[in-house]
Amino acid sequence: MQHVCVFCGSSPGGRPLYVQAARHLGQTLARRGLTLVYGGARVGTMGQLAQAALDAGGHVIGVIPRALVQMEVAHTGLPDLRVVDSMHERKALMADLSDAFVALPGGLGTIEEFFEVLCWSQLGLHAKPCGLLNVGGYYDRLTAFLDHAVEEQFVRASHHELILVQEDADALLDAFEQYRSPRADKAEWILRMNEGLSVPDP
Ligand code: AMP
Repeated sequence: MQHVCVFCGSSPGGRPLYVQAARHLGQTLARRGLTLVYGGARVGTMGQLAQAALDAGGHVIGVIPRALVQMEVAHTGLPDLRVVDSMHERKALMADLSDAFVALPGGLGTIEEFFEVLCWSQLGLHAKPCGLLNVGGYYDRLTAFLDHAVEEQFVRASHHELILVQEDADALLDAFEQYRSPRADKAEWILRMNEGLSVPDP
């Protein structure tokens, strides 16, 4: 794992702990020698995250659509700011560049971006870890809703389990290092079956 994509708010949120957590994540990524990939803005928790990573000597890649350069005030201090033509291009490039995905607390954009990479994971289009940094319990009600969706049989329990949830940045990144995609296990199992190799019991 070298590049970690972080989705987060273009707003700072209503409590100081959100900005503090964003800054702490930026510092943690830098300390661990990981490159931050994010939405390229100077505003909200996005800007705080990126500035903290840069101030701690980390490497940061920003990806921002041309139409949002003004609106989100692109972070002009980034060593690597990629201006793309659309939201779709932004998400595709962020996904391609990254080995793992974190959602800090954020709004509709954050939630949409996180669930898109999660959907790609459940389809087996990638095998990269996806995690929620559950700062101050912000995502408690989202995970409770997903429990409900599993109970109602719209989401498989194994797909719910694709979401790693931690309150601490280092704990989440440690979980990413340990992560092995269930889809990858299945692919290996099929491969072994086809090659006539013995298949261990699950
Ligand atoms: P928000 O969490 O709503 O503050 O948005 C966080 C980031 O997601 C911002 O950079 C938004 O421009 C971006 N964003 C908002 N809506 C979308 C969307 N539908 N698809 C992708 N990114 C979005």
